[in-house]
Amino acid sequence: MPAHLLDDSLADIEARLDAWGEPAYRARQIARWVLREGVTTFEAMTDLPLPLRARLAEAYTLEPPAELARTDADDGLTTKVLLDLGGSEPGAPGFDAVEAVRMDYDPESPEHAPGTRGRSTVCVSTQAGCAMGCVFCATGQQGFTRNLTTSEILAQVLHFTRGAEGRPVSNVVFMGMGEPLANYDPTLRAVRWLIDSRGLDMRARGVTISTVGLEGPIRRLAGEGLQVGLTVSLHAPDDDLRRRLIPTAGGVTIDGLLDASREYVERTGRRVTFAYALLEGVNDEPEQARRLAERVRGMRAHVNLIPYNPTAGEGLRRPSTARVRAFQRELQAAGVNATVRIERGVEIAAACGQLRTDVVAGNAPPVAVLDSGTA
Ligand code: SAH
Ligand code: SF4
Repeated sequence: MPAHLLDDSLADIEARLDAWGEPAYRARQIARWVLREGVTTFEAMTDLPLPLRARLAEAYTLEPPAELARTDADDGLTTKVLLDLGGSEPGAPGFDAVEAVRMDYDPESPEHAPGTRGRSTVCVSTQAGCAMGCVFCATGQQGFTRNLTTSEILAQVLHFTRGAEGRPVSNVVFMGMGEPLANYDPTLRAVRWLIDSRGLDMRARGVTISTVGLEGPIRRLAGEGLQVGLTVSLHAPDDDLRRRLIPTAGGVTIDGLLDASREYVERTGRRVTFAYALLEGVNDEPEQARRLAERVRGMRAHVNLIPYNPTAGEGLRRPSTARVRAFQRELQAAGVNATVRIERGVEIAAACGQLRTDVVAGNAPPVAVLDSGTA
């Protein structure tokens, strides 16, 4: 089977075309067809000579993954899709799927009204499953299947931009299934396709990578010369608790992560966000907020609180709104900027991994479209 075109970088494609004796602008033409026009065959690239189209079709595929399930919520403001990567039936050997979510609001900022004009965020997965094993995360509890390729990551964005119902995407957040910095090269190549002026031409500031906190890769990312946003999942004010929530955190310390985050801020000029999943009675005490504030105060950073989204995890509870607000107030009183992540899409479990669990377990209909109301 030929390689997917979008697993190569633009430079790779240019080099191949050059070797074929084609002019340099052909790569740009092809990229425009694939990313902006959303075509899925080379035959559709009508401004390319026919022999070149045939040659490309022999060398590359443009096949997009099929949609296995779709769920709409929030009057259509949130759409979650399950995309087929393996070509087998759910539950059968070789079944492999990832989920992607589109949110037509700003998921990081509750102050934004629903349907904020022109804002459309796609949340992408970078791995099928995840090896990090965070105790509160449905994906982590499923274990790791494999890394996604660059084309599989980009397909999740293109799924929402192409076709009759397709619309432009303003933001991409790497917050779906998997740990993006554990799949570094394919993730970075996808980021470059998103922000390259010859690619999807998105603002780098509209792209956010969320990491469980891999210190070395954060430092490497700081040196890439990209203006992408970084979210570091902290979840605890001390290392003991953090290692209980993220069993694979191992030798990575909060001090090390804060230091790598400072390096990111210095080298990119971007603020860093610390994600903090709030679990009742585990990490949501006011005293823990004060200790967290002590550690992050003074950094060009802000804390984004994510009230626990109940998943398959046993024994974990979502704190009441009053407790969430109290935690936020402690941080703010200590001079730390803190927001609460908007909770739209909770009814379709948009946070992480859950749709896939349902389909694998056979609990969900293959296509579940809820009434999207009057939107
Ligand atoms: N692996 C990366 C990105 C994917 S997870 C990371 O961990 O940062 C995206 C975000 O969702 C992370 O901040 C993670 O902590 C959070 N998350 C996962 N499961 C959750 C749940 N059940 N409730 C609330 N937040 C959750
Ligand atoms: Fe992996 Fe992120 Fe889930 Fe942790 S929270 S298991 S790192 S996807």
